Order: sequence, then C-alpha cells, then structure tokens
Amino acid sequence: MADKEKKSRDSSSSHDQNKTEEEDEDLMALCGSDSGWVEARTHCDHLEILSSDLIHIPAPDTPCNRCHHPAENWLCLSCKDVLCSRFINKHMLEHYQQHNHSLALSYSDLSVWCFSCNSYLDAQVMPLLRPVYETAYILKFGEAPPFRTIGFLELGDGSSSGN
Ligand SMILES: [Zn+2]
Ligand SMILES: [Zn+2]
Ligand SMILES: [Zn+2]
Repeated sequence: MADKEKKSRDSSSSHDQNKTEEEDEDLMALCGSDSGWVEARTHCDHLEILSSDLIHIPAPDTPCNRCHHPAENWLCLSCKDVLCSRFINKHMLEHYQQHNHSLALSYSDLSVWCFSCNSYLDAQVMPLLRPVYETAYILKFGEAPPFRTIGFLELGDGSSSGN
C-alpha cells in the first residue's frame, strides 16, 4: 500500500505525461534518419488534395511538361502534371512551391513523396494511395503488383487472431 502511494507521487511530479507519445514519434523519426534508412510514413494530413480521378493517369514515360526530360519524372497527384525531379530541373519541386500540390508519385520507383511532410508515404498500406500506386504499377510493368492479393490490414500484425 505504502509502496503504491509513493509510486503515484513520483509519477505525478512529471506532469507532462501526455506529451510522451509525441516525443517518442520525434525520437523515432530522428533515429530513422540517423541510420540512413528513411521510413515511409503511413499517415499524411495532405491527402485531401488528391485528384478525384487517379484511375486515368499519364504513362510512366511521359516527358516533363516544362523541360521535356524524357522519363523517370514525377506525377502530381493533385493535377496529374508530369514534372522532372529535383535531380534534373526541379520542376516538380517548383510546382509544389507554386501550387502547394504536395503529393507526387515517382515514375522511377513508384514511391510517393509528400513535400509538406517532407517524407515518403507508404502507398501500399494507405487506402487512398493504393489505387494510384496499382494503376502506375500496371502502366509501368504491364501487370498487377505482387502484393495485390494481400489485404493491407494483414500487413501490420500477423500475431492477432480471432480464432
Ligand atoms: Zn503530407
Ligand atoms: Zn523539367
Ligand atoms: Zn499539381
């Protein structure tokens, strides 16, 4: 009993207990960049700018709309403009700065980047991004992505079972 009382007094001295979750997240982000491996986010607050029609998208070999760089460009997921990367003429980056269209899909490796989050997004587990990822994959490789039959909920935790 006395032991328990002492414990609760100790923990009440640190009043910012509800801040720990945020701090943990920051810490994880820091560790991620430290190790050189950049973890793709599974949450992004900017998905409302996504185009309502991401079934019809330009072909992966579409040249940059500004400088006509031939391939490996980015697709703007708001207006479906195809623009070159920051390693070519930075037209996608300029487009984000001008229009605040922060979500782009790479026709090089089909990764999705959010300029506002400054992070890659895991399109395979995000319901709003999975369809355009699949469409781009089919356009690029001529077949459906291999994960297609796996439900995205099953990817998270294989240990839980109702049976
Ligand atoms: Zn974002
Ligand atoms: Zn360009
Ligand atoms: Zn755009």
